[in-house]
Amino acid sequence: MKRSLLWFRRDLRIADNPAFSAAARAERLLPLYILDETAGGASRWWLHHSLAGLQHSLARRGLALVLKRGDPAEILPRLVREHGLDAVLWNRVYEPARAHEDAALEAALSKKHCAVRTFRGALLLEPGEVATAQGGPYKVFTAYWRACFRRLHQHPPEVAAAVAPAKPVAGVHSERLEDWGLLPRNPDRAVRFGESGRPGEVGAQARWQAFVDRDLAGYADGRDQPAAAVTSRLSAHLHFGEISVGAIWRDAIRAVDERPAQAADVEKFLSELGWREFSHYLLHHFPDMTHAPFQKQFQAFPWRRDDAALARWRRGITGYPLVDAGMRELWATGTMHNRVRMVCASFLTKHLLLHWREGADWFMDTLVDADLANNTAGWQWVAGCGADAAPYFRIFNPLLQAKKFDPQGDYVRRWVHDLSSGSYPPPMVEHRAARERALQAYRAMRDNAR
Ligand code: FAD
Repeated sequence: MKRSLLWFRRDLRIADNPAFSAAARAERLLPLYILDETAGGASRWWLHHSLAGLQHSLARRGLALVLKRGDPAEILPRLVREHGLDAVLWNRVYEPARAHEDAALEAALSKKHCAVRTFRGALLLEPGEVATAQGGPYKVFTAYWRACFRRLHQHPPEVAAAVAPAKPVAGVHSERLEDWGLLPRNPDRAVRFGESGRPGEVGAQARWQAFVDRDLAGYADGRDQPAAAVTSRLSAHLHFGEISVGAIWRDAIRAVDERPAQAADVEKFLSELGWREFSHYLLHHFPDMTHAPFQKQFQAFPWRRDDAALARWRRGITGYPLVDAGMRELWATGTMHNRVRMVCASFLTKHLLLHWREGADWFMDTLVDADLANNTAGWQWVAGCGADAAPYFRIFNPLLQAKKFDPQGDYVRRWVHDLSSGSYPPPMVEHRAARERALQAYRAMRDNAR
């Protein structure tokens, strides 16, 4: 490898980045990022700042990040030809459409006598690495995660060596990040997005360190309380690969050795990372999950269409304070606590009987951590049609959820300022009636499926 191209994707970091570590050994290096046009509005904001951070870290190493828009299947072979490159490297991504395109690209580049090297950089274990005794994919989380855990203990994720990077490939044209228009304007929706975190590798490292030092002890008990904010808030950092999940795993295991009293907290935290792995695993094995229910009987579910109700849910004026708090937090900051995501998603799919895809689309556009695998699996799970989902007939009561997880009302007060003003709307559906309607719909689907 004399002249290499490193294609950054969901790995916007230098530390513990296997593709970077391998590519930096070349004599000349061309670091490239191709715009992901599918990213939603809030996620584009995060991406802008993350790329700016990466540009800065590369510049400190004498390298300039080349930015391009368009089809990777055209851009990569063209750069290889124009700049006499002999190798292209990237960390693998797992969304089925991308993985499919990558395979075609790899074949096309190899035909042109350009070496292609790809690496595992975004997950602890890749979907093909874990299978049931019969050789098929797991469909139940606990069995899946037990198998992963065993494997990870035997083969912990390796560290990618830090390497002094190569000299740049000269004379490569790059687009300007400012011209990509990733930041929302007119209106600037993002004024409070900074509350969701500090995009980029430096912010990711700082967040992880703060979590290990302060909030990890107490995570198992506190993680369900939205007012406490003790979770890691790493999801957007992980989505964009600003921090290595392998490094997180190693640090977390070390934390248990050093502080055995935190074992339960670490175990719970690692199992959440396990849900991230499982979501990617499921999407890989069941690619139609993005639009079709995992449990096929839900194809016959009588979802309603009601644009006015959908609009009230999106705007956080349902008349249920915990749901409204979550939806308003989401709009303002681009994030929402996991417990509240579950309550809001349940309200849409069960109280309003609106299709989970309506909710999933809204989240993809408004979350800074929008992630096709996690979002799809999360929505299907809550809607009752996902893998290993709670039975459909377990319907959250949003008022009881608030009592249990926000007992002092601190979280709701933070986001619903009109609660005691007299202008706060009455509940748009009455809980008991909505619950009964949802159960009837479920029974109708089941009877149809028989
Ligand atoms: P922590 O509790 O600190 O967990 C650590 C990490 O584990 C997270 O950063 C995340 O990467 C992963 N994780 C935690 N919970 C889950 C989970 N249930 N499923 C998959 N991974 C998980 N997460 C996203 O990253 N992007 C999404 O688009 C997304 N959409 C969701 C939609 C719905 C309806 C639901 C119920 C959940 C969704 N989640 C999504 C999962 C979860 O809510 C967030 O990952 C979590 O709230 C992020 O906060 P944290 O980083 O503080 O989590």
